Amino acid sequence: MVDVKDKDYVVVVQCHIVKERCSGFCCEKAFAERTGGFADYPQDREYRILTLTCGGCCGKALHRKLSHVSRQIKKHEQVKKDRLVVQLSSCITKDNYHSPPCPHLDYIRVLIAGAGFDVREDTVISEKAQARRDAGVYACSGG
Ligand code: SF4
Ligand code: SF4
Repeated sequence: MVDVKDKDYVVVVQCHIVKERCSGFCCEKAFAERTGGFADYPQDREYRILTLTCGGCCGKALHRKLSHVSRQIKKHEQVKKDRLVVQLSSCITKDNYHSPPCPHLDYIRVLIAGAGFDVREDTVISEKAQARRDAGVYACSGG
């Protein structure tokens, strides 16, 4: 279990294909409001946040992207990567309006763990989408 109180940086990883048409607004809104996958983040605690995509199937580019983030925050802000947490977007982890979960999800989890980063799952969770998932229908609006 990752304790987000021990983190300073949140790196939201989103599906590269989905981001061709999605701005990521609902992920940011969920973070700002501390809902969905961000509900455990204290509202009165400031976090730095950046978003990036997996780089495209099969997600292998993510390793290089995360390594770059890790090097940069260590070099420029003297922050070690154990203060960083990766949060996988709901369009990667769940059935949704755009598609089923990422077919490379297990690979991406292993890749992130192998790179030495803590990882959490989900970002925006809409009630409508969850109801449709519960009913076996995937048709969410942004997560
Ligand atoms: S690897 Fe998964 S998350 Fe990345 S682009 Fe492909 S389907 Fe999307
Ligand atoms: S979870 Fe929703 S808002 Fe976030 S990147 Fe995916 S589709 Fe866009």
